Amino acid sequence: MTDRPLVVFDFDGVIVDGMAEYWWSASHASRRLNLSSGELSPDQVPDAFRRLRPWVHHGWEMVLLASELPHLDLQAWLRDYRMEQARALERRGWSAVDLQAALDETRRDAVRDNRSAWLQLHQPYPGLVERLQRFDAEGVDWAVLTTKTAEFTAELLDSVGLHPWRLDGREAGAKPEVLLRLQTQRPLMAFVEDRRATLEVVRRTPGLEQLPCLLVNWGYLRPDDRENLPSGIKLIALDDLAEPLARWL
Ligand SMILES: [Mg+2]
Repeated sequence: MTDRPLVVFDFDGVIVDGMAEYWWSASHASRRLNLSSGELSPDQVPDAFRRLRPWVHHGWEMVLLASELPHLDLQAWLRDYRMEQARALERRGWSAVDLQAALDETRRDAVRDNRSAWLQLHQPYPGLVERLQRFDAEGVDWAVLTTKTAEFTAELLDSVGLHPWRLDGREAGAKPEVLLRLQTQRPLMAFVEDRRATLEVVRRTPGLEQLPCLLVNWGYLRPDDRENLPSGIKLIALDDLAEPLARWL
């Protein structure tokens, strides 16, 4: 344990906007699974996919969405995402593991065959890269904790010149477990996320009840996510982030 403070960041929807890539990779992965050429262009993000992205927790879910489009009932999915997802999985006889494998294979091929085009499908949010790079001068370390596969996250971070103290991908386990482990190594100052449900689980986890949680208002938020936040979860804007860490909390 050292005393150097640590701030932990989610990746997708916090550091990088990867919407174009999520759709591109998910629709290509769906084509692999369906052995078809697909009905929708991988280069044009459908509105329904964009609107459902805030419900997505793991990458494989996007492959299912891509397979269900363009015929899915958007209102039904918005009403009860988990139930529609379970139905679609059952109807197709797919598992999360198969879908995740198809997504990872698609991304691996893209990185190998056309790395720069794949990287260009991702945009860091304005000022984020510079802000993270400034932490060092504040005497603070930062880490990335994501449900994305670590190898792809590492590619993306490296491509924009970001080198976190530590990177934990989906292989490292559930976010609360990883945060508990990190807490034994460093004083945790904050966890920054765009998925409110994840922050709520973190705050309910024994040992993490005091961890300041920040919900970013620029990420993939559901329409009601900004309303009536429970204590301990604070909404933060890009402008707030530019301030010294002590002012965020
Ligand atoms: Mg996120």
